[in-house]
This record gives sequence, C-alpha cells and structure tokens, in this order.
Amino acid sequence: MMEHEIYRFPRERLDALIERLGREYRVVAPVIKGVQHAWEEVRPGTPVALEYPTTLLPPRQFFAPQREVLYRYRKGDDGKVTFETPPTERPVALLGVHGCDLTGLRVLRSFHESSCGDRMVTDRLDQSFILGIACWVPCMAEAFCRDMGSLENEIPADLYAWDFGEVLLLKVLKARGREILADAAPLEAATADEMALLRRRMRVRHEAFPTHLRFPPSKLPVALEAAESDILWDANADRCLSCGRCNLVCPTCTCFDVHDTGSLDGSQGERVRSWHGCQIPGFSRVAGGHDFRPTRTQQLRYRIFRKGKYMPERYGMVGCTGCGRCIKHCPTHISIRDIFRQVGGTA
Ligand code: SF4
Ligand code: SF4
Repeated sequence: MMEHEIYRFPRERLDALIERLGREYRVVAPVIKGVQHAWEEVRPGTPVALEYPTTLLPPRQFFAPQREVLYRYRKGDDGKVTFETPPTERPVALLGVHGCDLTGLRVLRSFHESSCGDRMVTDRLDQSFILGIACWVPCMAEAFCRDMGSLENEIPADLYAWDFGEVLLLKVLKARGREILADAAPLEAATADEMALLRRRMRVRHEAFPTHLRFPPSKLPVALEAAESDILWDANADRCLSCGRCNLVCPTCTCFDVHDTGSLDGSQGERVRSWHGCQIPGFSRVAGGHDFRPTRTQQLRYRIFRKGKYMPERYGMVGCTGCGRCIKHCPTHISIRDIFRQVGGTA
C-alpha cells in the first residue's frame, strides 16, 4: 500500500466527483429501488447508496447489455440493402463497485478476450471509469467472497475507496483516477492517524467474514471432476425450476442468443443480441432437435462445472466471485456455496 497514493476525500465532495465524471461519462451508482438496490444513472444531488447490499443485477449490464441491437438493415427503392449500427453510447463510470463485482468484470474481460474476442464488450470495459469500494462486513448472508478471493480484489478500479463516514480514503490505481480526483477536490494525502486507522480496520476485517469452504478455489476443478457422478446433482436438480434466475443475476454469466426481427415484407429489420442462460430449457438444443443436456441434472451440473472448472481451465479465472446473488434469488434455495462445500470434501 503506497501511502502517498492514498488521499482523503470529504464525502461532501461526492457531488463534485459526479459532476466531473458526468462531463465524459454516464455516471452510474447504487441507489435504493423499492426494497432492493440497483445500478442507476445518477446526477449531482441523487442520493447515492455507497453502503449497500449487493444489487439485484451486477454491473455487467453496462458492458454486455441485456438486449442490444447489433445492426439494422433496410432495403431501398432501388433494391439495395443498407446496414447501420446504432450510435455508440457514452462510456460508463461506475461508483462504489464491491470486490465481487470488480472480479466479475475481470472474468467478463478474460472471457471476451480469450473466447470470441468481442470488441464491443472489451472496448466498453477499456473506456469505463471505475471507483471500487471496500466492504467492511458481508453485504448479505449468502455472500462468500472471502472464500473465492474476491473480497480483497481492487482490479480493474481506477480509484479504490475505504469508507470512514464523513471522509473516504481513496487509493489511486490508475493515472486517470488521480486526474479525475484532482478535478473534484484538492488532493490531500491521508493523515498518519487515518492511515493507522485504515491498517487497524484492515487487520480485523477478515474476522467479520466467516469462511464457508475448506479449500482454495484453485482446487475446484479437481474437486468437481471427482464429484461428477455424485448424487448431489440429482438431489439439487429435483428442486430446480429451470427458471434461469441464477444465470440472469450472475456477474460472470456471458451466454447470449442472437436473433433477427424483420418486417413482413422483408424490407427492414434488425439483428439483436440478448442474454441467454444454460438453465433455461432449450439452451443446449441444436438444429435437428438434438439437445446436448436434456435433463435438469445435466443442466444444473453444467452451470456449476462452468463456474468452477471450465472457466478456470479455459479462461484462467474461476467463474464464481462468491457474490451470493444466485443463492439469494433462487426460488428453491439451491446454493452453489453448499455444492462447493460438499464437493470440497474430495479435494
Ligand atoms: S434460480 Fe434456482 S430454480 Fe431457477 S434455474 Fe437457477 S438453480 Fe434452478
Ligand atoms: S455463481 Fe452465484 S455466487 Fe458465483 S458469481 Fe455467479 S451469482 Fe455470484
């Protein structure tokens, strides 16, 4: 931790930061929405909830949107077809991203760089501005970020914050973080007392995060392979409704469908990409009607293997950040954390 790169930032300057970012970015932050918190566009004066339980949907929606028009086509009177791509939106600035969701953005990048090389997603990630924030306590009972190693993660943030109420301590991780910060408030190094307080809080923070797993995430591929024929898959699949909620809320789910919609006379239309999920019936059905994973047991096991084995083996990062969303929002309380704990016995 480089002390001279940690600045004190009075909370009352948050609006100045939002105003500064708003000149270049769509500024997005957690706000209260009904009984949940959600990522929403904010302006100076919007009540931003920097202390928040994990949002229903993760920030991946700003980089790989839930529905996105890839291009539109139109046939002219002369019979020629022209194509146009929708205008590019302003880049996004995210304020207050927890370690689990920072990790989710890293996984998103590693997937899109290593597999399909999707520049639409990686360009948005490159152009974004991110203020990460440390969690002092688990943001919800289902979280297991400490076990998955994402509690401490600060990448890919430009600035990283520790919240001390009236004052935030901000660590500069990228040059543009310092630039933006200097525009929003005079750069003032954290005092010796504030640094001592930060060190003390960081030393005891782990005690607030219980451990749930008996093994590090690097052992998951071996543990899962050994448990491939375990009855735990049938036992969980018996309760699964194939609703796909676990896919929709996950920060590391990347699957999508592409479909065309056109006018009846075929003169115009659009190609659209939208989120899909491996738990939704028909996801693995191919032309000719063959389904590679026709049973719920196969589908559920695939989701867990994808996170714990296939993603680390193919893209170099475990595909679960321990955010706990899929556990919290599963209508039948199927828990990836419990499944990891069960297969861990064989690691
Ligand atoms: S949220 Fe639960 S019930 Fe729905 S598909 Fe996922 S595991 Fe099955
Ligand atoms: S699998 Fe569940 S706990 Fe893991 S990152 Fe996805 S939503 Fe979060």
